[in-house]
Amino acid sequence: ATPTAIMVGIGKGAENNILIKDAESLEVGHRVNAIVLDKTGTITEGKPVVTDLRWMVDGYDLPQLQRVLYTLESQSAHPLAEAVTTKLANTELVVLDTFESVTGRGVTARYQQDTYFVGNQNLLTENKIKVPDELLQQAIDWENQAKTVVFFARRESAGIQSEVLAILAIADPIKASSKQAIHTLQSQGISVYMLTGDNAQTAATVANQVGVNDVRANQMPADKANFVKELQRAGKIVAMVGDGINDSQAMAQADVSIAMGKGSDIAMDVARMTLITSDLNSIPKALQLSKQTVRVIR
Ligand code: ADP
Ligand code: MG
Repeated sequence: ATPTAIMVGIGKGAENNILIKDAESLEVGHRVNAIVLDKTGTITEGKPVVTDLRWMVDGYDLPQLQRVLYTLESQSAHPLAEAVTTKLANTELVVLDTFESVTGRGVTARYQQDTYFVGNQNLLTENKIKVPDELLQQAIDWENQAKTVVFFARRESAGIQSEVLAILAIADPIKASSKQAIHTLQSQGISVYMLTGDNAQTAATVANQVGVNDVRANQMPADKANFVKELQRAGKIVAMVGDGINDSQAMAQADVSIAMGKGSDIAMDVARMTLITSDLNSIPKALQLSKQTVRVIR
């Protein structure tokens, strides 16, 4: 590889909002035949907004419960939590006794003898909190609209009685560029996959809207990395595109790692390429650039 060709490639990348850290990823890029995309913040805007909030309790307790919900989400760094605190802006904070973040699930806290849960259905199931059938149906309806459902629940001090207090729907619009970019990659013979920590129903709806047929939901950070490893064992050269802390393991495992700008600092640290644009069409552009660079080299 001539250093000049690499320098030209890196320079051209910069002109196109593609920051390339090393020669190696520029050289491997053109051999990529599998691309793994994270959903939230990569395929979607990553700016979730609460569209619905249904309380299951009435009157008297409600203001206090809203404070508890607000406080729990104020202490979480998850983008969904920010959507909730924005929705409940100007709510007062309470002082929680404990607070715990559960990866891929949500958050829990103890407050005045009771335990509170904010997160997905798995968080409730694993804590043996029953969701009424009517709410399960409500969740499916929202998930079919590509929304993510968040439950707010409480278990009373004795540990016997528990109830769902509220259910929220959160929308995270798909980027305008996603469908086109994915189609471009597929038409170049590249297999495209979507991974997400989100639930299966929402994941399937989003994947369907952008034309991805292979999707894995409920993925923990290690699952994402294992999936990349599986593809590599099957002989694929894999590019992983993500934006979050929970993508960084998979990005470290991949042959080419691409961070979406405005993602977490950790993702950008790990990534060998960073797209300083939210436009997914930069991905086929980056691979094209690699092809041109290598052509010059040979
Ligand atoms: P991803 O970024 O791919 O969605 P995460 O592992 O960060 O994956 O989150 C997985 C799921 O856990 C979310 O989709 C959400 O359902 C739930 N979750 C995590 N943190 C929170 C939170 N603070 N509030 C509500 N739900 C949460
Ligand atoms: Mg993400």
